[in-house]
Amino acid sequence: MTQVDKNVAEQFLDSNPAFAKEYYDAKFRPKIISDLLSSKTTAVNTSAFHALSSVEESEIVFDLIREMQDNLQMERAMFNLMRHLSFMLRADAMSLFMYRQRNGTAELATRLFNVNKDATLEDCLVAPDSEIVYPLDMGIVGHVATTKKMVNVPDVTKDSHFSDFVDTLTEYTTKNVLATPIMNGKDMVAVVMAVNKIDGPHFTKEDEESLQKYLNFANLILRVFHLSYLHNCETRRGQVLLWSASKVFEELTDIERQFHKALYTVRAFLNCDRYSVGLLDMTKTKEFFDLWPVLMGEVPPYDGPKTPDGREVIFYKVIDYILHGKEDIKVIPSPPEDHWALVSGLPTYVAENGLALFSIRLVFNVPPYRPHQTEPLDNSGWTIKNVLSLPIVNKKEEIVGVATFYNRKDGKPFDDMDEALMESLTQFLGWSVLNTDTYDKMNKLENRKDIFQDMVMYHVKCRKDEIQNILNTRERYGKEPDECEEDELEEILVQQEVLPQSKKAEIAEFHFCDFEHSELDLVKCGIKMYYDLKVVDKFHIPRESLVRFMYSLSKGYRRITYHNWRHGFNVGQTMFSLLMTGDLRRYYTDLEAMAMVTAGFCHDIDHRGTNNLYQMKSGNPLAKLHGSSILERHHLDFGKTLLRDEALNIYQNLNRRQHELVIHLMDIAIIATDLALYFKKRAMFQKIVDQSKTYTDWNDWTKYMMLETTRKEIVMAMMMTACDLSAIAKPWEIQSKVALSVAAEFWEQGDLERTVLEQQPIPMMDRNKSEELPKLQCGFIDFVCSFVYKEFSRFHPEITPMLDRLLNNRKEWNALKEIHDAKVAELDAAKKAKEEAAAATAAAKQGNGVCFFVQMNPPPPPPKKKCSLAKRKMTEAHTILQLSVHTHCLREKV
Ligand SMILES: [Zn+2]
Repeated sequence: MTQVDKNVAEQFLDSNPAFAKEYYDAKFRPKIISDLLSSKTTAVNTSAFHALSSVEESEIVFDLIREMQDNLQMERAMFNLMRHLSFMLRADAMSLFMYRQRNGTAELATRLFNVNKDATLEDCLVAPDSEIVYPLDMGIVGHVATTKKMVNVPDVTKDSHFSDFVDTLTEYTTKNVLATPIMNGKDMVAVVMAVNKIDGPHFTKEDEESLQKYLNFANLILRVFHLSYLHNCETRRGQVLLWSASKVFEELTDIERQFHKALYTVRAFLNCDRYSVGLLDMTKTKEFFDLWPVLMGEVPPYDGPKTPDGREVIFYKVIDYILHGKEDIKVIPSPPEDHWALVSGLPTYVAENGLALFSIRLVFNVPPYRPHQTEPLDNSGWTIKNVLSLPIVNKKEEIVGVATFYNRKDGKPFDDMDEALMESLTQFLGWSVLNTDTYDKMNKLENRKDIFQDMVMYHVKCRKDEIQNILNTRERYGKEPDECEEDELEEILVQQEVLPQSKKAEIAEFHFCDFEHSELDLVKCGIKMYYDLKVVDKFHIPRESLVRFMYSLSKGYRRITYHNWRHGFNVGQTMFSLLMTGDLRRYYTDLEAMAMVTAGFCHDIDHRGTNNLYQMKSGNPLAKLHGSSILERHHLDFGKTLLRDEALNIYQNLNRRQHELVIHLMDIAIIATDLALYFKKRAMFQKIVDQSKTYTDWNDWTKYMMLETTRKEIVMAMMMTACDLSAIAKPWEIQSKVALSVAAEFWEQGDLERTVLEQQPIPMMDRNKSEELPKLQCGFIDFVCSFVYKEFSRFHPEITPMLDRLLNNRKEWNALKEIHDAKVAELDAAKKAKEEAAAATAAAKQGNGVCFFVQMNPPPPPPKKKCSLAKRKMTEAHTILQLSVHTHCLREKV
């Protein structure tokens, strides 16, 4: 190998420039640059002022860049720059004044003070509590900030703007000044000032140029700083809003949250004061409880505007985004028609015609719409000046909502540009809703699957060995029920007296008591009712299916404190009694009566011992599946799922029309057990009862009613309530015990709320307030139950025994309440007496005068003598309290 000397290398590189470039680029350039950047000191000697060579100047530039590429600390970077500048300008000192607005007034505050070539950052950095603040109308600095121009003052004594208050403060004499503003676009950011030229009378033209040149760095530093400051503010504000947004979230459903997220995210791009989204009701068919008032002629049929796909224009929720002043988000559920966001009629107009117009631009007060309110909307003084309203359309071309934007930021009307922007936004929103649609569907399926598996896991279906408890075909015929003829099964059920005797078992009595019956007995009683309704033969209900169905129902109820099979059975039993003994059957066909009793048995199946609110609060999948009447919809679904199973389907031999009718009635009856809907049907039911009194001939009334589908449905719905609450109208021995199990289940929910949700339960569910039970029962009777049984007794006097027992129970609870009240009063009096005695003793130590005061107060009265009835009540109250303690212990053990 030949020796490569310098000349050869040079020659080679000269003749191969491409290689040379490649070589240096790869090997040297990065190294040189990194060496330059990693060097921590400037290779410029600043101990004495001298003219800078270009090498020295580039050293300084590198130094500044290095400073910036490391963690950008605004003060440090600015300090470094100013240190170099004071050297270059030969200034005695330089200072930096930050511009800011405080309480709406602009001012300048010192941030770096007295920077010179030998200073340290620590010496120059001004702490917030010792900063000097200039109003803009003061001093040369203020003048620079006002004019936004560089000034060079050769002699401050001849400048009218100069103020010597800082000189006085710092015992310094300012002779000449060079100062310049630092801007971010049109915005004032800071002022940099150099004072007292060393080795010269004043700053020169060249100094101005140098300062101007290096100002770019200052600009960059401050701009980056300013941006990160804004970013910080934005993040902070974002956090604050996110917090409030999370509160908003609580008020929104899953779909609405998608809207909200999308609209909230884009708020920064919306060039307006405020915007709102009106969400349109998407239901095409109304719920039965909303249809009834129309069918009853109480509410005129809707003839208002409709969406292009035929929905009534109902804005069920408005989300209001306030961007002016203090940012806020408001959710307005069920906004009234005259709500400010709707009153213009514009959102409705858009919802009605949106597809044809797609977007309309409305400038304030343009007819044919009612003019916007000209007064401020709230105490912020905000008024609507101009509006842009657009429909939000999903991929199915349905209008799902209307977005309305108010007041363009610059006060001008919205223009084509805004329209284009908002249009793409609303399109995006429509898409996001479409996505939610699919997402929601999947979610729904997922939830359904979970719940279904839950159901299957619970082994609801009656097993082969279990059915032998009723249909003992193995013992009797040596075969399985499905191998038997209907006659053979009928033989077992009816001839063998497996089923109870109706009279003896009192299955049609209002005072029926389940205490003496086993759960299996109740299944048999239930089967017997289908026989007594005479629907078994009429609708060809396979005996095996009937037995399996009733048996499975009993298993479908969980073994919880109150909402167990006994409650489910009692509701079916009361429905049966109302039909038979209460004579309400006269209005209904056999098919309808069967549906009603079946609905009663099914109505609480798979209840979890906690109410709808708890399902929502605990995020139960049921709450995601059903928007309202969560549990009731689940009981209904569960019941219908059982009925879909061939082996359990008591409806299997109905024709299609009959099948549709029984399912329709079950839908209404079970949903109607949601007490939240009770108040919706009260007035309508009362009107029907009133109407019945206008008939002199009972048969005429019956004939009329039998054809009145809606009225029959309303009566049926109210019957379901009467059945569900029937424990309150049972003999006191039953009521006092059942009320306790209801309370015990409430207390269990209260415990869950405390432990799982970490919330304080309401008094009704708080076991620490168990002594309030009599009071709560009285309230429940007065505000909910009385109406039901009073009206039913008025409607059909056969039902009066229920009302009588209810009134008696009211008396009993009230007596217990009074005992409790007396006890509380007694305790209070004793406590008061004790306190007074203690006060008197304390006072007596100070002197005799107060003894007189003690004598003036009579001692607490002795407890009143109780009559024998009250004594009995006391024992009962005691039992109740003992029982409640007992349930508590049981629960603790579990
Ligand atoms: Zn119930």
